[in-house]
Formats: sequence, structure tokens, C-alpha cells
Amino acid sequence: MEITIGAHVSISGGMDKAIERQEDIGGNCGQIFAGSPRTWSVSEYEKEEGEKFQEMRDEKGQNPYVIHSTYLVNLATPKDDLFEKSLNCLQSELDAAATLGVEYVVFHPGAHTGSGRDTGVKRIAEGIDELDIPENVTLLLENTAGKGTTLGRSMGELRDMIKHAETPDEKIGVCIDTCHAHAAGYDLVSEEGFQDFLQEIKEDIGLDKIKVLHLNDSKDERGSEKDNHMDIGYGEIGDEGFSNIVNAEEFEDLPIILETPSDKRAGYKENLEHILELRE
Ligand SMILES: [Zn+2]
Ligand SMILES: [Zn+2]
Repeated sequence: MEITIGAHVSISGGMDKAIERQEDIGGNCGQIFAGSPRTWSVSEYEKEEGEKFQEMRDEKGQNPYVIHSTYLVNLATPKDDLFEKSLNCLQSELDAAATLGVEYVVFHPGAHTGSGRDTGVKRIAEGIDELDIPENVTLLLENTAGKGTTLGRSMGELRDMIKHAETPDEKIGVCIDTCHAHAAGYDLVSEEGFQDFLQEIKEDIGLDKIKVLHLNDSKDERGSEKDNHMDIGYGEIGDEGFSNIVNAEEFEDLPIILETPSDKRAGYKENLEHILELRE
């Protein structure tokens, strides 16, 4: 069974370098930032650069690609200036995706910082409706660890964001991050818990809305609300949990992106190979 798996790679040195880094680890899909993730700056890409990127990807067989939005984006904020900045940033990222032929832009929905859950959820939907999502690009909401007033910790919350938006349904999807789901309290480790998680996805969102999986182990315990990624098999989800995840037929056609720490213990290549080992 063919598996679509890659990692979040750096674009430093140029887009062709990203492709090379992906090839080095054995990835056949991938994720990038379109600028610098802890600032508001998004790079502008020329048409030729985009064409070259797509050509190289086709040549190396790396599809699809995802742009991860900057961490500053907060569409749930009650503050107008932050809301506007977030919209401008996301729009630039969506436009970059269109130029680069990148299929998905994924973002963390944001934190309501006191305005309340329902107000925050509606604000996110309002934000999505303000965006001009280019043809051939799908905007993905990512589930979160749920710390503080962060929204998107449950499938139900993601559903409500999508439901309130008037943007055509096919322009919006969901990215599931395993570390975030675990931190938000979902049990991915026991067979029963994992089946409950799948059931919740089916009932609240629908499997067809899930477009990408972020596969990360979690440094912290279930329900910790902490977003600390760990190498596959070394964290609290462990081999048992990842075995459930990578062998679930519900997920078998989804592109997998690794965002593991890439520190001394295991690089992307080892993490990717570890996932392949867990596949039955
Ligand atoms: Zn993310
Ligand atoms: Zn994370």
C-alpha cells in the first residue's frame, strides 16, 4: 500500500532546497512556511518561482504540499487590529499557495482571549468568509491542544467554525494533529479510545473533510493541553497509539506530515522510517 508521507521542511536557501531536504528524508509530500512563522512577514513569490517549484515536485513525486500559517494568526480575537493583521497574513499565505501550486493552507483557529467560546467561534467563521480562497487551494483548520482560551480543541468546535462560515464547503477542510488531539484529551492509545475518536470525527466533521494528518508524538500526558511535540514512539502516544493511527483504514489515503522536533534523538528520516515499520 502506497503511503503519502513527508515532513515540514525549511525553505531557507530557496524552494528547490525544500524539495531536496524532502528527498533526503525520503518524503513524497511536504509542508513549508511561506515566510517566517513567528513574524507577520510572508514572502511574495514570482510566477516563475512557482512554476519551477511545481515542476520540481512533479519530477521528484512530492505531492501534495501544505503551507503552515504563522503562529501569530488569531481569527478568534476580539481585537480588530489583530483580526485584520491575521486576515492579511492568511490572505498572503493563500495567495502564495496559489502561486506555488500548493494545495493546502493550514492554520490554528485562534484564542478568544475572554470574549467567550461562541463569540470566538463566530469570529473565526466571519474571518474565513472575509478571505478570498484561490481556486485549487483548500483552507484547513487544525485541531489544537486547547490551552487557555484557544479554540478548536474538539471536533465539535471545529465543526461549529465550519458551520457558521458561509464560504463554500469544498473550500474548507480540517487537519488533524495527533499531539494536539492527545493534549486536548483524546485517547489515541487504547483501541477503544481511538475508535471513539474516529467516531467523533465521523459524526462531528465527516471523514471527507479531513485532508491532512500531522503526525507528532506528545511529550506531555493526555489532557495536559500542552503543545510539545515528540519523536514518534518516544512520547505519551507511543508505538501503540501510532500503530492505531497509521493502520486505520479511515486515514489510509491521507497525506501525513511529520513535525517532530528533529533534535539529537531522531531526525525526520528516522521518524518516517519508524512510521513505515508500524504499518501492518
Ligand atoms: Zn500546526
Ligand atoms: Zn503542535
